[in-house]
Amino acid sequence: MEKKELIYEGKAKKVYSTDDDALCIVSYKDDATAFNGEKKGTIVGKGVVNNRMSNFMFKLLEQKGIPTDFVEELNDRDAVLKRVEIVPLEVIVRNKAAGSFSKRFGVPEGTAFAAPTLEYCLKDDDLGDPMINDSQIIAIGAATKEELDTIAAYTLKINEVMKEFFAQCSVELIDFKIEFGRLPDGTIILADEISPDTCRFWDIETHEKLDKDRFRRDMGGVEEAYAEMMKRVGLDK
Ligand code: UDP
Repeated sequence: MEKKELIYEGKAKKVYSTDDDALCIVSYKDDATAFNGEKKGTIVGKGVVNNRMSNFMFKLLEQKGIPTDFVEELNDRDAVLKRVEIVPLEVIVRNKAAGSFSKRFGVPEGTAFAAPTLEYCLKDDDLGDPMINDSQIIAIGAATKEELDTIAAYTLKINEVMKEFFAQCSVELIDFKIEFGRLPDGTIILADEISPDTCRFWDIETHEKLDKDRFRRDMGGVEEAYAEMMKRVGLDK
């Protein structure tokens, strides 16, 4: 499988067409952005970590019954994926308070929840990805009621699989963001990525941050944290 034409370049990855219209090749970059693109930088080796970790997680989730867009890992930075139409929602699950939740609701970071929360943001850079609720999503046609039911059910299952997996790596899954896509026949599948860019990972004992918050908050040790997550997941060999 070879890259044909660049069809999309985002903040952290490039997407290429291939000879097969149903497939694309994604190529992960080391570029990092935060705060809707206001903060820019490079995290050396991030593209490799995100590609390999995301592919690994998508394979695990497929085994647990979640349909995904993953097809094949080509090399350290590139993977073959099914082409989908992205549902314009960021789907966020939280197991403990952090980030924008802590700020918005005045709940200290690390506060445990009685049950995971599920929230949605509308993917729109010009609007700054505003929070949106179920009825608003259906009203503007970002997704249908049926699609949203599927997305919510998959997302809570994905959280359970990921929480259990990362706990075995001595990592607490604080929160994460996922995206879904539609195949040409309308089937909803997991798309985009699962990586330290899109999850909050805390060491289960020390609560040390092992994710992109180190970049967002200028904490230092960013590359080391991404490398440590590769090691924890067993992908450093
Ligand atoms: N997140 C993401 N992309 C975004 C916004 C959030 O991957 O554009 C992830 C983020 O890494 C965290 C979770 O979603 O794991 C919840 O993020 P939050 O809403 O707290 O926003 P943030 O503090 O990241 O701005």
